[in-house]
Amino acid sequence: MLLKDMEPIVKKFYEGLEEGVYYARKCQECGAVEFPPHLACNTCGYHGTEWVEVSGHGKLLNFTIPGIQNDKPHLKEHGKYGYGTVELDEGCQYTFVVYGLSKKKAADVRAKIMAGETVGVHAKTIDRPQYKELVFELD
Ligand SMILES: [Zn+2]
Repeated sequence: MLLKDMEPIVKKFYEGLEEGVYYARKCQECGAVEFPPHLACNTCGYHGTEWVEVSGHGKLLNFTIPGIQNDKPHLKEHGKYGYGTVELDEGCQYTFVVYGLSKKKAADVRAKIMAGETVGVHAKTIDRPQYKELVFELD
């Protein structure tokens, strides 16, 4: 999908990625932050949200390493990765592609998470033919 055809909230999110800014929506009722941004609040259902910038930093809560059937060639070009639940420093959670994870490192990273240690991650973008894709990477 081209940027010009996108719904306004999705469009601003992708424009932010081009500028190196991570845009989220903050609920005016309960204060929950939605990232990636949505029109309404997924926590309380309130319709009023406003633009905020988030740090792009957070921690990894869990992850899985892709197998042959769900390993994406365009992602593999940029290094080894997994699919992980990331909790941003601003409190919101979502599943992202996380670089730096591999079958080799999986046991170590999993042990840290199980022990309650913080496994830090930060956002970055990778170039796709028409846009930038948001991914995360281990700190
Ligand atoms: Zn809310």
